[in-house]
Amino acid sequence: MLSVDPNESQRLIADTARQFAQRVLAPRATQLDLEGGFPAESLAQAAELGLLGINVPGELGGVEAGAVAYALAVIELAKVCASTTVAITVSNMVAEVIAKFGTPAQREEHVPALCAGEYIVGGFALSEAGAGSDPGGMRTRATKTDTGWRLSGSKLWITSGTHAGLFVVWARTSDEPGARGISAFLVKGDAPGVVRGKPEHKLGQHGSTTTPLDFNDVELGEDALLGEVGQGFKIAMMALDGGRIGIASLAIGCGQAASDYAVGYARERQQFGAPISSFQAIQWMIADSATELDAARLLVLRAAWLKEQGKVFSREASMAKLYASEKAYVACDRAIQVLGGYGYTREFPVERYLRDVRVTRIFEGTSEIQRIVISRDLLRRHSSAS
Ligand SMILES: Cc1cc2nc3c(=O)[nH]c(=O)nc-3n(C[C@H](O)[C@H](O)[C@H](O)COP(=O)(O)OP(=O)(O)OC[C@H]3O[C@@H](n4cnc5c(N)ncnc54)[C@H](O)[C@@H]3O)c2cc1C
Repeated sequence: MLSVDPNESQRLIADTARQFAQRVLAPRATQLDLEGGFPAESLAQAAELGLLGINVPGELGGVEAGAVAYALAVIELAKVCASTTVAITVSNMVAEVIAKFGTPAQREEHVPALCAGEYIVGGFALSEAGAGSDPGGMRTRATKTDTGWRLSGSKLWITSGTHAGLFVVWARTSDEPGARGISAFLVKGDAPGVVRGKPEHKLGQHGSTTTPLDFNDVELGEDALLGEVGQGFKIAMMALDGGRIGIASLAIGCGQAASDYAVGYARERQQFGAPISSFQAIQWMIADSATELDAARLLVLRAAWLKEQGKVFSREASMAKLYASEKAYVACDRAIQVLGGYGYTREFPVERYLRDVRVTRIFEGTSEIQRIVISRDLLRRHSSAS
């Protein structure tokens, strides 16, 4: 049964994440946003607490706490620092995908190392300059050699691209059109021929690096292939289903933190001889944000619970990401409105939450792509029922 209340072990993981966020991330979050960079030290501490392998089997070095615990933990982390949180979510996704599709040797070599932070974090290299929403249009190519594969091409927008020690990289392995000719490979960040580009200058998430990656005839062994030849697109879509639970949770964390701040501020700020919280206009903004964030949380818990039960959860994960990312953005916007001019300045944290949450409507599938996933599934079910 799907329970709204977390059980004891889920609560334990959420508490661990909350305490870690308060102790380690909170003192650094504002400066990280102002100066940019990469939170390597914080991520090493996250690894020590098991936060890089929350839903990874214990025998592979993970915490094996399940998808619901993962969602709850990500919400807590994102309330404090979305930049560090996004590196954590991508690394968890990479560890999970190798645990699921890897050979026993690949699992043993890479997953414990990812969970322990030995790779710093993992990276997910799917998008290209000409292939974002439509990864089937990718041009990166892996050619068969006598000893394995030769990888050549370029990726764009790769989260943690400056520091990740291991990437899952998608490449075309045949001339079959679209998704059919795509395979997935495990590529170490220090492999000869891997070139990390300069981080993009972004609106938000300044403490998360987003970089191009070039693969200049990178020689890979046979053991670099993840899953079967031609199975790459399916692997990417399954990984993204789970990833969307993480991004939805990240969005909720940002929206919740901004809303909580606005509530506290509204009780203190006086205008017209009364706290602004006594004005109905302010109360309605508080009520709308609370309602929408709660609804988003329930959608995320449902998707995570379905995943945990081994059930199909693709549509539900897309619904959760679509709704959470759009409503969390509105919640951050309302929070700025409640703070008035102060909300627009960097003296107060709510403008950072708005900048940080904006990209959750774009990465791991834009809102438009989520609507396509949801409607396609409903239309297919309808046609097979009739
Ligand atoms: C900060 C950041 C971090 C990222 N991290 C990673 C990462 O770690 N790994 C990775 O592989 N990628 C990453 N990405 C890439 C991200 O997943 C893509 O940006 C996203 O999928 C959209 O692709 P695009 O930017 O090429 O936009 P496009 O695909 O060019 O889309 C442009 C617009 O057209 C719309 N559109 C496209 N197709 C359709 C359609 N069929 N119907 C209706 N509307 C459509 C889109 O919704 C969007 O509004 C990251 C991006 C950012 C900004």
